[in-house]
Amino acid sequence: MSIARFWRETPRRYNLGGSKCTNCNTVYFPPRSVCPECTHHRQSIEKMVPFQLSGEGEVLSYTVVHEPAEGFEMLVPYVLALVRTTEGPVLTGQVVDIEPEGIRIGLKVRATFRKLREEGKAGVIHYGYKFAPAEEADTTPVARSPAEPAPEPREPTRARA
Ligand SMILES: [Zn+2]
Repeated sequence: MSIARFWRETPRRYNLGGSKCTNCNTVYFPPRSVCPECTHHRQSIEKMVPFQLSGEGEVLSYTVVHEPAEGFEMLVPYVLALVRTTEGPVLTGQVVDIEPEGIRIGLKVRATFRKLREEGKAGVIHYGYKFAPAEEADTTPVARSPAEPAPEPREPTRARA
């Protein structure tokens, strides 16, 4: 099986699998085996359980990147944001599907798994999470859901002669 296919067929790998301390209920991403929040770390030993982050959160701060990193040339300008997930951990990631003018602190976003880059001729594809707006942004048209009826066409307003 090729590496690319391995990744495609292993969706669990894309998930935001963190860990949670059942002693103090703090959530960690990436997962930790010991809880630094607990005064005595030993309290948390064997109290850490796998925890799946919802991927939902809001923008804490952001920066618009105009100088691309190697391998990201096509994406400039792009938005990098610090996102506080609803479960607590703060993640850094690119915000996609939004114009840089549409980003703002407090914007609700949701993690989405995307191809990050492809390396060389071997075609090693890196996947990771990015964030997409979870609410309508002012400057980004949001595709109408098919379930939502289209607005009634209005009678054209006729100018009086
Ligand atoms: Zn703890």
